[in-house]
Amino acid sequence: QAKAKGKECFEFYSQDLSIALEHRTKLERYLRSAIDNDYMKVVYQPKVDIQNRCLSGFEALSRFIHPTAGFISPEEVFTIAEETGMVMELGYHVMISAMKQQAAWQHAGIWQGRMAINISPIQLFDIHFLEHLDQAIYSSGVKPEHIELEITEGVFLDNMQKATERLNQIREKGITIAIDDFGTGYSSLSYISNLPIDNLKIDRSFILQLEKDKRYKGVISSIITMAQHLNLRVTAEGIENLEHLYFMIDHQCNDIQGYLYSKPLNAEESEALLRNPQTEKLFILTAL
Ligand code: C2E
Ligand code: MG
Ligand code: MG
Ligand code: MG
Repeated sequence: QAKAKGKECFEFYSQDLSIALEHRTKLERYLRSAIDNDYMKVVYQPKVDIQNRCLSGFEALSRFIHPTAGFISPEEVFTIAEETGMVMELGYHVMISAMKQQAAWQHAGIWQGRMAINISPIQLFDIHFLEHLDQAIYSSGVKPEHIELEITEGVFLDNMQKATERLNQIREKGITIAIDDFGTGYSSLSYISNLPIDNLKIDRSFILQLEKDKRYKGVISSIITMAQHLNLRVTAEGIENLEHLYFMIDHQCNDIQGYLYSKPLNAEESEALLRNPQTEKLFILTAL
């Protein structure tokens, strides 16, 4: 009887596994044709400088929308892209698209700010990465000073020295570096003080905890204070309501990003925002 049960289990799991495999194979196929078929778009989420009450930049975020499969989350896309070696091609596509858009806004005279682009660890350490970066900057015509790269703490996990070298090479160009999702990975005070970085983005999970567990107020304010001592800018991700906003203002956080001010916007929506900065939302901030 146990044997029969075991067999059932095996069939059950192998069926699950083959569905997962099929799903995965399909996604891989979609990704391979994503750029050629225009399934991949870039959207832009504004960041607001809450001390100077102005737009401080945009973060470029990828969107994959397949005609039949629909929306595929960027996390899933980039995990598969890293495993299959497609990450360089997709990553370059995001860089060049975001920078060309930025250049267009600069030429139109509607925006001169900074664009942040997410870079996956595999992409960062690829031997062609610096070449791609130079190529994207050169062909779009944006200034490196107007570019920020967002990397996650995981980058430092394997080889701190290699990561430091690479980030120094990038910063020598004038590009700034942000640590994304700060606090979720390998954070330690001893390492953070020596890193070649400019900006620290507090992960959304901390802000989510703000209402549930009051102890998080202390944790978040400590992160902000630490960043100030290290001369880093601090950005709070996932600011969704006024309570979050007031907390960040009270604790002198530099920038906020989140649905309270704006969700990620497509190019047209972003342009409308840039052409009319006196939007209702900005009015909320200036009224404070
Ligand atoms: P991330 O870089 O930490 O980006 C922030 C994510 O939080 C975005 O999700 C954004 O839409 C979402 N978000 C922003 N404000 C709020 C808010 O107030 N509430 C809520 N619930 N969510 C908010 P998205 O676009 O789904 O991206 C998820 C992750 O996928 C990104 O996290 C990043 O790690 C990765 N990703 C996206 N685009 C790229 C890309 O072009 N390259 C690489 N390497 N990774 C990317
Ligand atoms: Mg990011
Ligand atoms: Mg983040
Ligand atoms: Mg994140």
